[in-house]
Amino acid sequence: MKKLEQLYEGKAKKVFATDDPDLVIVDYKDDATAFNGAKKGTIVGKGVINNKLTNYLMQQLEKEGVPTHFVEEISDRETVVKKVTIVPLEVIIRNISAGSFAKRYGVEEGIVFKAPTVEFSYKSDPLDDPLLNHYHALALGLATQEEIDQIIAMAFKVNDVLKAFFAEVGVTLVDFKLEFGKTSDGKIVLADEISPDTCRLWDSKTGEKLDKDRFRRDMGGVEDAYQEIMRRVFGK
Ligand code: UDP
Repeated sequence: MKKLEQLYEGKAKKVFATDDPDLVIVDYKDDATAFNGAKKGTIVGKGVINNKLTNYLMQQLEKEGVPTHFVEEISDRETVVKKVTIVPLEVIIRNISAGSFAKRYGVEEGIVFKAPTVEFSYKSDPLDDPLLNHYHALALGLATQEEIDQIIAMAFKVNDVLKAFFAEVGVTLVDFKLEFGKTSDGKIVLADEISPDTCRLWDSKTGEKLDKDRFRRDMGGVEDAYQEIMRRVFGK
């Protein structure tokens, strides 16, 4: 596998071509952004943590029948994944009120829902990722009805698997964002990452935040929180 030219640089990752047209290499950075790039910083060691955690969780999900883009981890920060066209939807699952949900609906954080919720945002930096419903997604041609149905079913399945997994290591999965992609043969697979950048993770006993909210809200202890998640998951 040869790492060829850079195809794309996002806020947290770079993507490189390989000598196989169906595979790319993702390279995780320590760069952190929040509020659509308005706040910038560095979380030392984040790239390594997010790479390893994402790969581990994607492999657990594969075992549970969720197809993902994961192929092979090739270094601390680099992973070979299937080349996909990203469906331009951020799919957010919530088990407990927090963040923009609490703000939008004027409720406190920490309300445990009877059933998880799903919502979509349109992945668009210039528009600031506006919230949309699935009719809007259809109208804009972002996905087909069948793809949206598949995406919702997969997202709830991911929630079941991850919620149970994190509960075992004393972490409450509050909410998270997923992205899906389409492979060259038209199959929808889970893509992007699953990490403390994209999940809200609270210590089950103390309620302490172990995720990017520590960076967003200038709470300090950001690196320690990411490392604590690593320790819980990998026992080191
Ligand atoms: N999230 C994300 N990327 C985004 C927006 C949200 O990974 O661009 C994640 C976020 O970390 C949280 C969940 O999605 O786990 C729900 O985020 P919310 O809508 O509450 O937005 P926020 O308060 O983070 O702006």
